[in-house]
Amino acid sequence: MNPHKRRAEKDGSSNGKLALLDLTYPEIQELLLALGEPGYRADQIYEWIYSSLVSDFAGMRNLPQHLRDHLEETTALCRLIPLQETRSPRGLTRKVLFALSDAETIESVLMLYDKRNTVCLSTQVGCPLGCPFCATGQSGFTRNLTAGEIIEQVLYFARELRPEGGRVTNVVFMGMGEPLLNYDATWQAIETLTDPRGYNMGARRITISTVGIVPGIQRLSRENLQVRLAVSLHAPDDNLRRTLGPTARRSPLKELLAVCRSYVRRTGRRVTFEYPLIQGINDSPRHAVQLARLLEGLLCHVNLIALNPTPESPWHASSKERVSRFHGELGRLGINSTVRLARGMELEAGCGQLRSRWHSAEEAKDCVLA
Ligand code: SAH
Ligand code: SF4
Repeated sequence: MNPHKRRAEKDGSSNGKLALLDLTYPEIQELLLALGEPGYRADQIYEWIYSSLVSDFAGMRNLPQHLRDHLEETTALCRLIPLQETRSPRGLTRKVLFALSDAETIESVLMLYDKRNTVCLSTQVGCPLGCPFCATGQSGFTRNLTAGEIIEQVLYFARELRPEGGRVTNVVFMGMGEPLLNYDATWQAIETLTDPRGYNMGARRITISTVGIVPGIQRLSRENLQVRLAVSLHAPDDNLRRTLGPTARRSPLKELLAVCRSYVRRTGRRVTFEYPLIQGINDSPRHAVQLARLLEGLLCHVNLIALNPTPESPWHASSKERVSRFHGELGRLGINSTVRLARGMELEAGCGQLRSRWHSAEEAKDCVLA
């Protein structure tokens, strides 16, 4: 598509400028060709953005001055504005609240493990699914992010890690929003991040988490990049699932498990199930038995995460004893599971929790316009 037409179509572009990170490599080529520039300029620009991680055009030293000036005037490179960064005491979890160019806000989290630096990305402002225990769900839905807004969350942390000699090694789509309801932008971001001409991240280091959007999982199983799939399963029966979110109506367990089985057959890759444990709601041994039956014979792994309670919801995290009993029961029934630490709980790093504390939209607007 003509990049200038794209500019007109993109909302949220900074001061009417073309958002460069929203463009695919062929679109950057097209843009440069239209300016009468040689084809190799696209490689140079791609390299500056995704390998050298420059944050302005002045840093693109091998581009002629007139091109740098033109890009500066007509395009925008960095559009996310960090409003607030919170670090855990040892700095191993860092959570950033960003303002977008239309003053909406999203959050992203960087988690440092032994050799892994994982960024948890948002794909939407809010989420249309409204799971009642989730801070993002409680905040309603405003809009999808563009590919560039998704990519820039990674670039922000990549730039932050570079002076420490690190890089973003893994990406999980477990921040705000439902990635499979913003499929095109999510996939474009993944293609860009894995492009060997650019950031060159291994597709196997990327995990898409979905609440269970069946058509999205079908589409994902036909893609040729080996990204990983995580499915959030809130309960092992549809009645209970319906009380914990509206997805059960869209995709009953029967359909959801069928598409997961077909995903495993097609791709040969296992599925991870994320199961939030809510005290007295979905954490009894009976639920463990139901879950084990559901997953029988499926190449999968279960991550058990004690609920990170939000102020607005009536639910509590399962006690250690109940988590461990649930975990033991699954093991006895032959289902592999891991008890995950809710990383950064002390940072309100649960999905959408920092943002929900950013009360003043006006304050956010001031920061964007400043
Ligand atoms: N929409 C996608 C991805 C974002 S949510 C999805 O639902 O999978 C990422 C994960 O956070 C999901 O597994 C969800 O179940 C979990 N989650 C949301 N709110 C939570 C909370 N309060 N405590 C624990 N996990 C939560
Ligand atoms: Fe949306 Fe996932 Fe939160 Fe449900 S858990 S409201 S699908 S972000």
